[in-house]
Amino acid sequence: MNVWITRVKRRAKCKYEACEKSILVDEYMVVCSYFMSAKSKRWLMKMYFHPQCWITRAVEELKTRVTVETRGRKRAVLSDKKRSTRVKILMRHASVNQRIGMEMSKDSVNTEKVGRLVDKLSDLAVEIKPYGGVPKSWN
Ligand SMILES: [Zn+2]
Repeated sequence: MNVWITRVKRRAKCKYEACEKSILVDEYMVVCSYFMSAKSKRWLMKMYFHPQCWITRAVEELKTRVTVETRGRKRAVLSDKKRSTRVKILMRHASVNQRIGMEMSKDSVNTEKVGRLVDKLSDLAVEIKPYGGVPKSWN
């Protein structure tokens, strides 16, 4: 697979499961190209990502591997669908964390709101368990 970064000339769609938004003209994008083959034909496929999405995706994937290996468990093999569900939960967790951070940085903190957001974090921990376990960094 070849990977490079380029400036967008024609609108593309981000392939990252948790994004899938358009990448607009004049923005930068990461392009991955690879060959597909079937019935003795070979053709070039391309995937496009926002640079940040490409990094997030790679980091999340690495985190999943490290978490599983350091705990000495059997390596969890997630199907594509399960992995994509996991990534979506990870993104929601990150966004709730960010909202807590934003609320906490205010002069008058709405503790009720923070409490609700913290509850949401615990819900997400329950939700992610069947999809490769709770990430170490959540504890
Ligand atoms: Zn994206």
